[in-house]
Amino acid sequence: MARKRVGLYPGTFDPITNGHLDIIKRGLRLVDRLVIGVATNPSKDPLFSLEERVAMVDREARPLAEELGVQFEVAQFDELLMHFAERVGADIIIRGLRAVADFEYEFQMTGMNYQINPDIETVFLMADPKYQTIASRLVKEVARYDGKISSFVPNEVAEAVVKKVAESRQ
Ligand code: ADP
Repeated sequence: MARKRVGLYPGTFDPITNGHLDIIKRGLRLVDRLVIGVATNPSKDPLFSLEERVAMVDREARPLAEELGVQFEVAQFDELLMHFAERVGADIIIRGLRAVADFEYEFQMTGMNYQINPDIETVFLMADPKYQTIASRLVKEVARYDGKISSFVPNEVAEAVVKKVAESRQ
């Protein structure tokens, strides 16, 4: 039997959005096993704790993997991305590209990552145009100003964001 192809989709997922989920759906078509790596990222001062982010990603994305019969795991990481990728046995790293703004950063990161481990390929996927402009950062900003976020994130995530924002005001 052919070796299983393993993909790693890393991010902060603070919180997971419909944009992330669209990239996950596309990524699932490319691999036999998908690992979603949730980065600790304390420097980004996340709204949700690491455990909350992991739980939300698992709850929202697992059904998509199960539907396609793809092995699925959500794992937290706090190390160099390429070291984590090696540890989970990833063949490819999946990243989403939104606009030109993402390109500069991704270009640099990928270039450096290829020097760290040239055997792990980075694959860029584009979300459906209706999800391309969604960003976790903006979802939180809209919620802080009491805007409606239900078209950007799954329902349970929207409820969790509204609750967190309310808590942070107290
Ligand atoms: P990071 O901290 O790495 O930016 P994010 O959680 O913001 O983590 O995003 C993880 C990955 O998902 C990144 O590759 C990002 O470009 C991609 N992504 C996020 N939102 C979208 C979207 N709406 N469409 C396509 N890709 C997206």
